[in-house]
Amino acid sequence: VTIHRGDYRPPEWQVPDIALDFALGIDETKVAAALSVVRQADAPAPLVLRGDGLTPAAVRVDGEVWNDWHMDGGDLIVDLGERTAATVEIETVINPAANTQLMGLYASNGMLCTQCEAEGFRRITFHPDRPDVLSRYRVRMEGDKAAFPILLSNGNCIERGEEGSDHWALWEDPWPKPSYLFALVAGDLVVNKDSFTTMSGRKVDLGIWVREGDLDRTGHAMDALKNSMKWDEAVYGREYDLDLFNIVAVGDFNMGAMENKGLNIFNTRYILADPDTATDLDYDGVEGVVAHEYFHNWSGNRVTCRDWFQLSLKEGFTVFRDQSFSADMGSPPVKRIEDVRLLRAAQFPEDAGPLAHPIRPDSFQEISNFYTATIYNKGAEIIRMMATMVGPERFRKGTDLYFERHDGEAATCEDFVRAIEDGADIDLAQFRLWYGQAGTPRITARIGTDAATGERTLHLAQLVPPTPGQPDKAPMQIPLRIKAFDLDGGHGAEEERLVLLDRAEMAVPLGRYRSRPMLSINRGFSAPVIVDFAREEDELAWLAAHDDDPFARYEALQQLMLDTLVAAVSGKGGGSGAVIEAVAQTLAGRTGDPAFVAEAVLLPSEAFIGDQMVTVDPDAIRRERLALQGAIGAALEAEWRGVLSGDAPAATDLSRGAKGGRRLRGVALAYLAAAGLDDAAALAFRIFSDADGMTERQAALATLAHGDSEERAHALDIFYQRYRDNPLVLDKWFQVQAWSLRPDTVDAVKELARHPDFTLANPNRVRSLYGALTGNQAAFHRADGAGYRLIADLVIALDPKNPQTAAKMIPPLGRWKRFDEGRQALMRAELERILAQRGLSRDVTEQASKSLAG
Ligand code: ZN
Repeated sequence: VTIHRGDYRPPEWQVPDIALDFALGIDETKVAAALSVVRQADAPAPLVLRGDGLTPAAVRVDGEVWNDWHMDGGDLIVDLGERTAATVEIETVINPAANTQLMGLYASNGMLCTQCEAEGFRRITFHPDRPDVLSRYRVRMEGDKAAFPILLSNGNCIERGEEGSDHWALWEDPWPKPSYLFALVAGDLVVNKDSFTTMSGRKVDLGIWVREGDLDRTGHAMDALKNSMKWDEAVYGREYDLDLFNIVAVGDFNMGAMENKGLNIFNTRYILADPDTATDLDYDGVEGVVAHEYFHNWSGNRVTCRDWFQLSLKEGFTVFRDQSFSADMGSPPVKRIEDVRLLRAAQFPEDAGPLAHPIRPDSFQEISNFYTATIYNKGAEIIRMMATMVGPERFRKGTDLYFERHDGEAATCEDFVRAIEDGADIDLAQFRLWYGQAGTPRITARIGTDAATGERTLHLAQLVPPTPGQPDKAPMQIPLRIKAFDLDGGHGAEEERLVLLDRAEMAVPLGRYRSRPMLSINRGFSAPVIVDFAREEDELAWLAAHDDDPFARYEALQQLMLDTLVAAVSGKGGGSGAVIEAVAQTLAGRTGDPAFVAEAVLLPSEAFIGDQMVTVDPDAIRRERLALQGAIGAALEAEWRGVLSGDAPAATDLSRGAKGGRRLRGVALAYLAAAGLDDAAALAFRIFSDADGMTERQAALATLAHGDSEERAHALDIFYQRYRDNPLVLDKWFQVQAWSLRPDTVDAVKELARHPDFTLANPNRVRSLYGALTGNQAAFHRADGAGYRLIADLVIALDPKNPQTAAKMIPPLGRWKRFDEGRQALMRAELERILAQRGLSRDVTEQASKSLAG
C-alpha cells in the first residue's frame, strides 16, 4: 500500500492523556494502557488504534467491558457510538526477547528498551500512533529488582516502591508528546551523573546509563552533552525544559540514536569512547550524535512533525544544527569538508538513482525506508542555504519565530519556511521548490569576454535532472558564493558575492579583467549542486594553493585529482605531475591545520570517481587510483616520512592539533604503503604495535589489511585477541577486512560471515561486515557477481529477523544503471531473486521493487 502526502486528514480522535502500566519480563511483558480519548470529528467516527503483532487481551470503555470492537488487519477499531470522550483501556502481552526487529519493546543483553520512531509504539500497545496525536504520559513500571534494578522512562520519576522481590517506579512527563517519543528502559545499569545549570538558573540532573564496565568510557559523551546544552542556549536561545536528562546506551540498535523526551536511547557506538578503543573520528561521532539528539528536544520534540512526510522538518534542521555545533567545537572548514564528502558519497547517488525522492516525499510504502541521506543531509543543506541567504541574525529571527509560533504543535515543512520568510524577511516562493523537486541540480559555468572592453561575464545555466515520477523540473533558486580572482594587475573586483541563480540561464557581469579571472564558485559548498566548469590544470593548481576559502582550496585540489583520474581511467591519462606538485604544495603548509591538509591531500574515493563516468568501470578505477596513490607516495616519500618522523601525539591528547596530526599521519602511512616501499609493512606494523590509542592502531591495521604481508596476519590476530570481548572494537576488526583492497575481499567477507563472532542479530556487526563491503566498490562490483550474491543472500536471511536493517542493504544493488551490461544483468537478477522470496517485508519489498524498476 502506498501512502500519499496529499491524503493527510487531521485525527478524528485526540488522546490528551495516557496511562501505561508495565509488568516487565524479558519474554513476557504485560502492558495495560488507559487512553483518554476526545473526539475531534463533528460526527461519530470509529476510534482507529494501530497495532502490529498485538492481540487485545481485554477492552474496557469507561470502566465497562466493551464488545463493540473488531480487528482490521493488525489494527483495533473501537466503536464508541455517539460518545465525544471516553477512557479506553486495553491490555496486551508482548515478548521482548522474541522482538528481533528491534522496534517497539525489545531485549538487548538482558535489558529491556524501546525504539518507537517511526511506528514502533503500535508494537507495544494499540494507539493512533501518528505524530499529530500528542499526549501527556504517566508510566508505571514494575519488575524483578535483581533483573531490572534500574527503571527509567520519560520525564520525572514521581514515586517508587518495592513489593517482595519486585520494585516499581512511576514516571510522569509533563510535556505532551507523540507516541514515537515514548521510551522505557529496565535493566542492570550504572550511571555517570553530572548536572547542568540552564541560562535561567535551573539545575538539570544529567545521567548517562551504561552496562557495568563501560562507565569510564562515558566522559566524552557527557562533555558533549553539556556543550550542546550551552550551545543551544547561546546560538538558538533554546533552554532545556525538564529537571532530568537521561541517556541510555544499547548494544543492539537499528540506527544511531533516538531523541525520546528526557530519555535518549543510543547505539553504544555513539556514547562509548576512550583513547584505547575509539578513534578520533569515533570521538567526533559521539559528539555529533549526542548534540543531534539533544537538539531534537526543540527541533523535533517541542515542535514535532504533523505527519511522516514532514520528517525533514525535524531531521534536516537538526542535522544542520549539529553540523554547526561540531564546526564550532572543532575546525569549521574540516567539518564542512566532511559533511560535503558524506553528502556526495551517500546523497548524490541516492538522488541520481531509482530511490530518488524530494526532502518532503509525496508518497511512501514504509516510512522506515525514508530515514535517508536525502531527508537528513540534503535536508540540512536546504536549511543551510536559507541561513546563507539571510545571514545569521535574520536566520535567528526566523527560527525564533518558528519555535514561538509552533511550540507544542505538530508542524509542517511549510510552517518552517513561512516562519523564516516572516522572521527573516525574505521571499522564499521559488526556493520552496527544493522541498518538492528531487535530483541534484547541475550547473554549467562559462566565462565570456568582451574583446573590446575586457568586460568578463559569468554565464550560468542550471538543469534539474528527471527523477522517478518527476520527468520535468522547474528552475530552482540556487545561492552560489563566488569570487573571481584577478592575477593580472588587480583591476578586477575581488569581492566575494552571493549570486542567486533563479533561472534556467543567467549572465553575471564580473567586471573588467585583463586576463581570464580565476573563478572560485560554490565556495563553502553554498548549494548542494554539481558544478560543471572546465578549468585547466594550472587554474586548479592556483586555486588549490591560493584561494582564501579553505573549502574552495580543497575543492580545487580534489577537482585536479578527479580530472587526472577520470582521464587515466578512460585511457587519456596525461600524467600525475600536476597532482603531485599540488599535493606537495599543500603538504608544505601542513603546520597550519594538519587536519585540513590531511583531508585535502586524500584522493577522491573510488565511488566518487565512478560518479563522474557515464559507465562505471570499477576495475579500471581501482587500478588507476592505486597507481596515482603510489606515484604520489613515491614522489613525495621524503615528505611522508617527515610527517611520520617523531612521536605521534599522545592518544589522550584530543586537542585539534593532536587530532589533526594523527589524521595526517594515517594519510602519510597509506601513501607510503601504496608506493610499495620495501619497509612499508614493517613500518605499519611498528606504528600498529607502538600505538597508544585506537586512531593510530586502526589506521595502521587498515593499511596492513590492504596488503598480503606476514605483518598483516600477525596484526589482525593481535588485534582480535586483544579486543575480542569488546563488540565495538571487534566491529572494526570485521570492517577493516571488508574494506581491504585485496582482490579476494569478497571471499574473505564470505568466510568472516561464518566466524563465531559474526551474528545477524546485531545491526552494528552486520554493517561492519556487509555495509563495509558495499562501500568497497571494486569488491562489491566484482565482475562475476559474487559481491551482489552475497548481499542478496544477506537480505534474504536478515529480512525475516530485522527488515529495517535488511532494507538498508538494498540501495547499492539498485545502482545497476550506472554499470556495464554484464553487471547490470547480475544486479537485476539478485533484485529479482530477493523479490521472489515469500513473506517478504514491506521494507524490503519497497526498496527492491523500486530499485528494479529503475
Ligand atoms: Zn534526528
